[in-house]
Amino acid sequence: MEMNHHKQCLDLAGVGVGPFNLSVAALIDSKTELNACFFEGRESFSWHPGLLLDNTNMQTMFLKDLVTAVDPQNPYSFLSYLVDQKKFYRFLSAELSCISRHEFSDYLAWTAHQLSNVMFSSRVENIEYTGEAFEIETNNGSYLAKNLCIGTGKVPFIPDCAKPHISDKVFHAAEMGLRDRDFTGKRVMVVGGGQSGADIFLNVLNGKWGKAKSLDWLSRRSNFQPLDEAAFTNEFFTPEYVETFLDLDPSVKQSEIDAQKLTSDGVTQAALLAIYRELYYRFDVLKEDKWVRLLPHRTVSAVDNQPGGFSIQSHNALSQQVEAHEADIIILATGFSSPYPQCLKSILPLLELDEKGRYGMTPNFELKWKGSADNKIFAVNAGMHSHGIAEPQLSLMAWRSARIINQLCQKSVFDIESDKGMIEWVTERLVTEYAKAS
Ligand SMILES: Cc1cc2nc3c(=O)[nH]c(=O)nc-3n(C[C@H](O)[C@H](O)[C@H](O)COP(=O)(O)OP(=O)(O)OC[C@H]3O[C@@H](n4cnc5c(N)ncnc54)[C@H](O)[C@@H]3O)c2cc1C
Repeated sequence: MEMNHHKQCLDLAGVGVGPFNLSVAALIDSKTELNACFFEGRESFSWHPGLLLDNTNMQTMFLKDLVTAVDPQNPYSFLSYLVDQKKFYRFLSAELSCISRHEFSDYLAWTAHQLSNVMFSSRVENIEYTGEAFEIETNNGSYLAKNLCIGTGKVPFIPDCAKPHISDKVFHAAEMGLRDRDFTGKRVMVVGGGQSGADIFLNVLNGKWGKAKSLDWLSRRSNFQPLDEAAFTNEFFTPEYVETFLDLDPSVKQSEIDAQKLTSDGVTQAALLAIYRELYYRFDVLKEDKWVRLLPHRTVSAVDNQPGGFSIQSHNALSQQVEAHEADIIILATGFSSPYPQCLKSILPLLELDEKGRYGMTPNFELKWKGSADNKIFAVNAGMHSHGIAEPQLSLMAWRSARIINQLCQKSVFDIESDKGMIEWVTERLVTEYAKAS
């Protein structure tokens, strides 16, 4: 596939192969004649490997897989995986309403390693625009492509006060499972009240890395808050809502996103209940000495490395006081951020950015830019500000991929016509100025 002499120009080069670009790759492979190659830096497929911990489950249903929502007969569906792996009947008997992250990750890897348009061990280092095509430099050769699809994901967010201390004692949650850990006799603090914080807290509580001396779970949120998975909330994760969202005023978009935080960033009811029951069993049934503290409403403001361990300051939003804590190990489940990918450095001046430096995006997930309209740059997981809360989630990935492919092929390869949603978000019939005045 290597094209050092630029003899062949790809129709599409994908940068990064997480689930989102993998969905584009799978649909292209099974439904089009496009000449595409998706470059992935890793040697093989892996999905947030540092957070693939024991007893961690998906927040989304397994039918929201790479392809099913737009092509239910596709060979890369989760159901095809179950049949291929000869576990279909046992899967049904297990009555899983939500599946483990291990199983979804195995399904993603099963797909990725069947696709001939995915190239591993190929990190994209730089991309230049020639005026007619993109020159893609990887650690594994150079390639030429007419269009791009950027799917490089996000990077761990580390609070400033923790940055000087990053080490095997202070690290981001994404690193959790990547090396051997021993917390025996240590004072452990988990910072962050989202799903990753909850998953790590429960594993530390259960002694996965040895019996800790103490365990603090500190969160800025006002309590350990549940994921909002109610029926009508799920309407936010439909193409119909995205279509409505696209037409909203930017300030309304932002207030909608802020108001919907717990629809994607809360902790599943199942995980919260598992934690609550474990705490009840240990401290109210077995009457263990209290070695665990739950500390919501706190924002970490300072971390100091002292001879006896780390001293941590946090601001308590309830008492309005600055509190003091101590720990030997600090795990930062503080989320992810989206810097511009390094490989886009030379293209960046050609992109249209808004006043906050965010990508200008068309409804079809194309970045608005100054290059030729014949050369398109698509991006996945990059437009929450423009497309709404579903953008960083798996729920609509197949639909988004189909929309990208339809746009690329300039025809309706997939039928993605929206139907009327359950909720009428905006009513077309308006009160006229005249009627308002009367
Ligand atoms: C622990 C965890 C669990 C989650 N669970 C759910 C869930 O249950 N339901 C849900 O809806 N959402 C979930 N999400 C949110 C979201 O679905 C995932 O983060 C998802 O992995 C995002 O996919 P992605 O393809 O954008 O990025 P990633 O999965 O981060 O993949 C990006 C890939 O790009 C590669 N890459 C980066 N730069 C380059 C480069 N220059 N060249 C080549 N390759 C490169 C990386 O190696 C990586 O493999 C979860 C997120 C996390 C962190």
